[in-house]
This record gives sequence, structure tokens and C-alpha cells, in this order.
Amino acid sequence: MENVVIIGAGAAGLTAAIYTARANLSPLVIEGMQPGGQLTTTSEVENYPGFPKGIDGTLLMDEMREQAERFGARCKFGEVTDVDLVESPFSLTLSGDEKIEAKTIIIATGATAKYLGIESEQSLIGKGVSACATCDGAFYKDVPVVVIGGGDTACEEAIFLTRFASKVTMIHRRDSFRASKIMAERAIGNEKIDIAWNSVVEEVLGDDSGVIGVRIRNTETNKISELSCEGYFSAIGHKPNTEVFTKFLKTDDVGYLIADGVKTSIAGIYAAGDVADRIYRQAVTAAGTGCAAALEAERFLENQEHE
Ligand code: NAP
Repeated sequence: MENVVIIGAGAAGLTAAIYTARANLSPLVIEGMQPGGQLTTTSEVENYPGFPKGIDGTLLMDEMREQAERFGARCKFGEVTDVDLVESPFSLTLSGDEKIEAKTIIIATGATAKYLGIESEQSLIGKGVSACATCDGAFYKDVPVVVIGGGDTACEEAIFLTRFASKVTMIHRRDSFRASKIMAERAIGNEKIDIAWNSVVEEVLGDDSGVIGVRIRNTETNKISELSCEGYFSAIGHKPNTEVFTKFLKTDDVGYLIADGVKTSIAGIYAAGDVADRIYRQAVTAAGTGCAAALEAERFLENQEHE
């Protein structure tokens, strides 16, 4: 029987692991499909306090894991395929049918990048279509690429891609960016970045040997045009990873867990990080809620002991 199982090993999960490990609870961290979480798909993290020169996202997460393990956290790869959350003790099933029992659970499964979902895009994922410039950008040396979206991620990915691509075109459905002023200004001011405003992708062109372009429609004039590109990067936001929990826990219309602070509707189950945060979604806020969830789990276990 585990005291605390933390599902997810991003900034929220690993911070929860540091705190529960230092409380001698020997937490078990289940690292899912993307150990380290979304920060491992970003390049330089410039807004995490304590790193005035910025820090590589993967390095930051490696350091957090090492810090948690130093105090006795155990990390294990696995995908949670089923849960029984009626009351503590809870049970989890991992792929391969392994069962784990836990007195408390911290859900820190984060969110996953979204795609537009059009058929031509889906069929070319991994063949020129990607949602991670940091992972795949280097494949597009001296060729044109497009980035879809107008948020911070889109701007960041576009700027990153200028290191490799001959030209980056951002395709955004409106006439102004959602991104923070500083990121928007950097993208707009970058001479390797073009912006197709008021434009939506109708079709990704290409075949099994790769992407060759996109067909876009101007939403004001309805004019259709084609743009040559070999890389297509979706940067239109994220979807929370909550499917496995929805039998027991409430979510909002997008799928984010609904929690009161970090407390879900079930005593002993806590939510930390992007999985329950549709507003801030920052590494530092994820770390903050990871800490809060750990303190709540600790309190719950103490109360259980005195019952
Ligand atoms: P976001 O802020 O939700 O932006 C998503 C962008 O994609 C928006 O411009 C949106 O258009 C567009 N979009 C969404 N669905 C679309 C669709 N179906 N078709 C076409 N366009 C679509 O997501 P994000 O950029 O991933 O950022 C998420 C959070 O992380 C934000 O709080 C952001 O500040 C933060 N973040 C920060 C940094 C940084 O500070 N370095 C880096 C990355 C992310 P509309 O604008 O028209 O809605």
C-alpha cells in the first residue's frame, strides 16, 4: 500500500514528489508518456524564477527529478489505464495490468498539444506534421515551415524554428496575436517570420514522403491560396489528460479537472498543475500547486492516522 501515488512527472508532479519525499512519505511517481512533461518540449525556459540566464526545459525537469529522488521519491514508467477512486484506499491499474493501491493520489497528468484535426493533417503526423518544434525543428534545415496559432507557444515555436528553416510562416485565424506582448513583438520583428493573418488551414498537402504545402483560406476575403512548406507545426493549445478520471471526477467543458484549490471532490485525491488549470498554465504555477497538493496529502494521511 502506497502512501502517495503521484501520476505525472512534470513540474507539478515532481514538486509534489519533492515535498512528499521530504515528509518521509516515500512517494511513487508514475511517469507517463512524456516524462518531464511539457517543459521537455520547450527550448529555453526564461521565466522560471532562479535562472536569470534561462534554463533548458529538459535540464530543469531532470534536476527536479534528481531532487525528488534524493529524498526518497521512486519514479516508475507506466500508463494509468484505469482507476477506482470511490474512497481511500484507491486503486490504480497500469498498462500490463499491474495494480497499485494508494492512500492518497496526486493527479498531475498535465495537458497534451492539440491539432486542428483535419484529415490531411492527421494522416501526415510524423511525416512533416508535428506539435513540437523543439523535438522536430532540426529536421527542417533550409526549407520553409509553417506554424499554426497565435499564442505564446506559436510565437516561441516560430522563433525557435528560424534557427533551422529558410522561412517560417505563422498562420493565425485572427488579425492580432493572443501571445504576450514581448513574444508577439519578437515574432513580428523577426525577419525570417512571415505572418498570414486572418487565415485558416483548409488542407495539408503532401503524401507519405512528406508535407509539400498547405492550402489556406483568408477568413475575410474567402480567398484560397497555397503555401509551400515542408514542416507543419501545430501550436494551438493543449488538451488536459483527464480521460481516465472522468468516471469519478468532474471536469469543465474542455476537460480540465474541477478542484477547490488542489482538492478534488474526493477526499485524498488532489489535482496539481495544468490538468486543473486552464488559466495560468505556467511551470511555476504548476510547481506551486504541486507543493500545495503534497501538503494536503500529508495532512490527509496524518488525519487518517489519528482516526
Ligand atoms: P493559447 O494561449 O491557448 O493559444 C492558442 C492559439 O491557437 C491562439 O492564438 C488560438 O487562436 C489558436 N487556436 C486555437 N484553436 C484553434 C483552431 N482550432 N484553429 C486555429 N487556431 C486555433 O495556447 P498556448 O500558446 O499554447 O499557451 C498556453 C499557455 O501557456 C498560455 O498561458 C501562455 O502564456 C503559456 N505559455 C507561455 C510561454 C512563455 O511565456 N514563454 C510559452 C508557451 C506558453 P485565438 O487567439 O484566435 O483564440
